[in-house]
Amino acid sequence: MPRAPTPSAPAPAAAPAAAPARTLSAPAKALHKLGLTHPVALALHLPLRYEDETRLTPLAEVRPGDTAQVEGTVRECKVELRPRRQLVVKLMDAEGDELVLRFVNFYPSHQKTLAVGQQVRVRGEVRHGFFGREMVHPSFKAVVDGAPLAETLTPVYPASAQLPQSYLRKAVAAGLQRANLHEVIPPELVPHGLPLLRDALEVLHHPPPRTPLAALEERTHPAWQRLKFEELLAQQLSQWQARLERAARRAPQLHDTPPRQQASDPATPADTPAEAQPLSQRLLDVLPFGLTAAQQRVVAEITADLGRSQPMHRLLQGDVGAGKTVVAALAATVAMGAGWQCALMAPTEILAEQHFAKLVQWLEPLGITVAWLSGSRKGKARQAHLEAIANGQALLVVGTHAVIQSDVKFARLGLAIIDEQHRFGVAQRLALRQHLSAPAQGDGDVLEPHLLMMTATPIPRTLAMTHFADLDVSTIDELPPGRTPILTKVFTDARRDDVVARVAEEIERGRQAYWVCPLIEESETLDLQNAQATHEALAAALPHVTVGLLHGRLPAAEKAAVMAEFKEGRMGLLVATTVIEVGVDVPNASLMVIEHAERFGLAQLHQLRGRVGRGAAASVCVLLHTPPLSVSGKARLKAMIETTDGFEIARRDLEIRGPGEFLGERQSGDALLRFADLHEDEALVQRAQAAAKLMWERHPHAAMAQVRRWHGGHLDYLQA
Ligand code: ADP
Ligand code: MG
Repeated sequence: MPRAPTPSAPAPAAAPAAAPARTLSAPAKALHKLGLTHPVALALHLPLRYEDETRLTPLAEVRPGDTAQVEGTVRECKVELRPRRQLVVKLMDAEGDELVLRFVNFYPSHQKTLAVGQQVRVRGEVRHGFFGREMVHPSFKAVVDGAPLAETLTPVYPASAQLPQSYLRKAVAAGLQRANLHEVIPPELVPHGLPLLRDALEVLHHPPPRTPLAALEERTHPAWQRLKFEELLAQQLSQWQARLERAARRAPQLHDTPPRQQASDPATPADTPAEAQPLSQRLLDVLPFGLTAAQQRVVAEITADLGRSQPMHRLLQGDVGAGKTVVAALAATVAMGAGWQCALMAPTEILAEQHFAKLVQWLEPLGITVAWLSGSRKGKARQAHLEAIANGQALLVVGTHAVIQSDVKFARLGLAIIDEQHRFGVAQRLALRQHLSAPAQGDGDVLEPHLLMMTATPIPRTLAMTHFADLDVSTIDELPPGRTPILTKVFTDARRDDVVARVAEEIERGRQAYWVCPLIEESETLDLQNAQATHEALAAALPHVTVGLLHGRLPAAEKAAVMAEFKEGRMGLLVATTVIEVGVDVPNASLMVIEHAERFGLAQLHQLRGRVGRGAAASVCVLLHTPPLSVSGKARLKAMIETTDGFEIARRDLEIRGPGEFLGERQSGDALLRFADLHEDEALVQRAQAAAKLMWERHPHAAMAQVRRWHGGHLDYLQA
């Protein structure tokens, strides 16, 4: 598409390529720094906005507030000294209408180009001046009569002092010419009415006159839709690819059948107790409660997966208190009933310890040996557990990330369960995947364990469709019966004494309370001091109450002792840092106070609140805060008051923070969407999903090419 000449800056000799940095000009270096080295990268570097230089507005028609391009002859050009030194130029067009141009900063070159009698083309914003309509500091250039106008809207790119707009425009135009943008998607799979990829990019960089600017800026124009569709389709295809790759791998088929029925299966250890009932049934029989319908459903989904020869890759999501632990235990019994080991990993020692205690209570009576691994368990005890794990005696291993240390060798790991998976850092999750995917030897085959991840931070639907498509999701959408909803109240710090009095009342009634100390960014030491000071103050204010303190720096044994005291009801108030955020389960606790609640993230507040409301007593969560609140702080507290539904919380969190948080601390842009928007483009996500399926089935080579184009190596469209 022809471009109108842009006369000001020197043109790049050729599209900047990957040349040694020291031979590059300053703007070329700046391009390099932005990663704009490849034609495709340049072609995908889209304008921030556009300027319309395709028409001239007669001076009679310019209105204050408009940005307009006008042309006329200079009638007057003079330096005025009042109210300050400035250049004032009077322009007149062929119809005899006038406009004033005003420059507070000006150079001799201004006076030269704008000399009386010159014909100039001017672009700027019109406003009401003292003597009528005027433009302040417009852009301008000398023209001859009938000089051609731009044929397309002029793109405005994010530029800088090192990288002038005009240079960028030429570089992008050159990149666009050279980029390989041939059609990869079969035409019948492209939604009706969307242009070709190359045409779409041409339009986005150089829209023809009268293209609706609003549609470009709101990204609803068909050209935008095409680009977003490309991106979403590539993402769906790569998720399909991951799914197909997983389908090609092998896992042990785990059927929880009583040993007698397994006689032909040499994998069954000889020492499995010979009761006739499957192990999972025996666990169900000893549980003090029956499963909810939702729990039964997810257990069935997981059990079906475990019986398949492909590795399970399933996320179990359920709001805090929904009862995920027992589902995990049942999954574990299926694996163990089939004669395989199971590992359960939790992000904190407190939570792992609690799981361990519960599982020992449930499973040891059934003859299962449960091993415990944590960072703080060292020496002989650890060695003994490692042996039991390596020789297959320990069927269930519970612990923190110590479970994935390289000296932990499983005899036959059939199932790995990760609790509160979003709490594991990216590096940890990666190590975990690699370690646990180490093939287990079973029946002569190379087998990898099934994977069950659990979270109380549900993934919003669109995000699940785009970023976690290679993940099967089970959802517990129902709380165990008899829970009363938690009432959430927001108070300013000024009401602190009232809150303390409320704590005293609650404990008087035989209930217990948590007091969560404020989060102090990036300072564990301050965090600790603060928790200690809060503990002292509350202990002094509540002389008849046993007040405990729990924080991350306590030695493991002490942490366990404090938790035990609170759990057994011998402690009325537990002052804690966010170490209690996940998992802690004390049903008698019915009051939660969170100090400086405005400093916490929404998901974190919801998790913390989930520590209460676990028994039949009506529970209250008090959010203390110090005004003034930021906009997002206000939005978070408002969400907390308005809903206790974890899915609604997750939806609002996505709105407040964007999708990055849900994906963990990823590298910049990696796998995040660059062009599409999950909120606005949900319909397009669905179309891409449908198209991805057809493309894999009917055009597998094109599908692979599309994935390569967007996700492969240096041609990576997303990192471009
Ligand atoms: P989360 O999903 O947050 O991990 P937990 O597994 O800790 O929840 O369960 C919360 C509490 O509910 C625990 O005390 C657990 O024993 C109890 N619980 C789980 N399922 C049921 C059920 N079906 N009926 C009654 N109580 C249940
Ligand atoms: Mg839990």
